[in-house]
Parts: sequence; C-alpha cells; structure tokens
Amino acid sequence: MMSAEIFAVGDELCYGRVYDTNSFWLADQVTKLGVIVNRITCVRDKVEDLRTALEEGLGRSPRFIFITGGLGPTPDDRTIEAIAKLVGRNVVTEDLILGEMAGRRGVPVKDLSPGLRSMARTVEGAECYPNPVGWAPITIVTVGGTLLAALPGPPKEMQGCFTTYLSEKVAGVTGYRSISHRIYVTMYESEVFPLLEDLARSFDGAYFKPLVGEYKQNVGLPVEIIVFGESEMVCREKFVKLLSSLKQEVTARGKGLI
Ligand code: ATP
Ligand code: MG
Repeated sequence: MMSAEIFAVGDELCYGRVYDTNSFWLADQVTKLGVIVNRITCVRDKVEDLRTALEEGLGRSPRFIFITGGLGPTPDDRTIEAIAKLVGRNVVTEDLILGEMAGRRGVPVKDLSPGLRSMARTVEGAECYPNPVGWAPITIVTVGGTLLAALPGPPKEMQGCFTTYLSEKVAGVTGYRSISHRIYVTMYESEVFPLLEDLARSFDGAYFKPLVGEYKQNVGLPVEIIVFGESEMVCREKFVKLLSSLKQEVTARGKGLI
C-alpha cells in the first residue's frame, strides 16, 4: 500500500496553544482513500527546521507528503521557501494566481496588496492552484516518486484545497480504500484483546484499537476498527463478516457488543 507523511507547520502548534486538527483531518481522509500514514510531524515556523524535516521525510520515500500552514503573507510563513530550498529551485510569483486574485478583488493586478502578492508565490516549475476558500494557493511538486503538496493552515482552507485538488488524485492511484467504525464491548481490554488478535490474523487488512482512555462504565470499551480492501464494497463485506465473528465470540462469553 502507498504511504504518506504529514507535516504541520506552526510555532503555535509546537507551543501547544493550537490543536493540530489539520493532521488529524488529513490522516482520516487519506486513510479512507487507502493510504497508510506512516508519520505525522509538527515543525516550527523555521525554514531550516522545515527543510531538514522534509528532507528526512523524502528520504523515507513516501508516495505523498502533505504540508499544512505557513503559506500566508506574514514573515513567519516560510513553507514555500523551505520547499524551494529542498528541491533546489527558485521561489517565483505565479502570474495566473495574481490574475485570479485581481479578478476576485475586482482590481488590476498592479493594485493588488503586497500581502496578496506575497501569497501568490510558489516554487519554480510547481503546479500551483487557486485556493477555493481563502487566498494562499496550493503548491504541488513531484520529487522522485513523492508527490509533495503544500496546503494552507486555516482548517477550512486546507480542507477546501484538499477536496478540490488532491482527493481525486490520491484516490486515483492508491488501488485501496478503507472504512472505519467504532463499536463498544462490555469487556475489559485484557479480555477483548486476544479476540481482536485472532481476528487480525484471520482478516487481512484489519486494524483494531481498544480505546481504554475512553472506557465508559455504562457503555463499555470503545474499539476502533479499520478495514482496508481493494474497494469500498470489499471493505464493507469484510467488515460485516468480521463484526459477526467478533459478536459470536463476545456473546459466547456472556458479554455484549454494540
Ligand atoms: P494565513 O494566510 O492565515 O497566514 P497560513 O497558510 O500561513 O495562512 P498559518 O499562518 O500557519 O497558515 O495558520 C493560519 C491559521 O490556521 C492560524 O489560526 C493557525 O493557528 C491555524 N492552523 C495552522 N495550522 C493548523 C493545524 N495544523 N491545525 C489547526 N489549525 C491550524
Ligand atoms: Mg500565516
């Protein structure tokens, strides 16, 4: 299966002041599209830190690298610069993006603010597409066998850019999908774990995680189940079989499952 890495950029994330919800959302999306996310990294707004983190990421040869944040107009937004250094190309201003911004603003290109101009920057030779929700465009470069995409930081913009430009691209090449479901069992982790291990052995591409941190006395233990397969249909069929096997085992022990 194809792999991905996610890099969330921002001092505020590393200071623990803003939850990195972008990585969470992206990981969920690409997992559904059949990609295995091998690593999620949080990096500060420092060009050199980001460049080296990305270089290490590229060294692991994932099929995709998704970066969020640092595309805005302020001096701490350095993602484009880091990517340019990484691939050894120049930072350029994309005329098509300037034109699109001017059209949206209803002004000639020459009257665009310095902030908007600086957001129209991308890496020489990269694919660069307008942001359907905000202003900073998305930049996509291919380095060896890795597609590297830089998405804006604001969650709604990141989601809009991913959905518009990347989800189909990713879905078109993976050859896999996954579905996930959360069930509840009235068992302790130590009781249910051996059953899940058996299931994981008999169902190829199934993942289980009992969420002990979210155990609820009156409901039971939540168990997150993810099933990978060649299509959504295959995943669903596999999931139905898997759930019925688990139900049998759980009820045979006098316990419940919802
Ligand atoms: P902007 O044009 O707004 O500057 P940007 O691409 O430069 O966009 P950032 O400056 O990094 O993005 O962040 C913009 C906003 O999005 C901030 O409120 C920031 O806290 C939030 N944000 C950035 N990264 C994440 C993330 N990983 N998860 C959730 N929120 C994020
Ligand atoms: Mg910013």
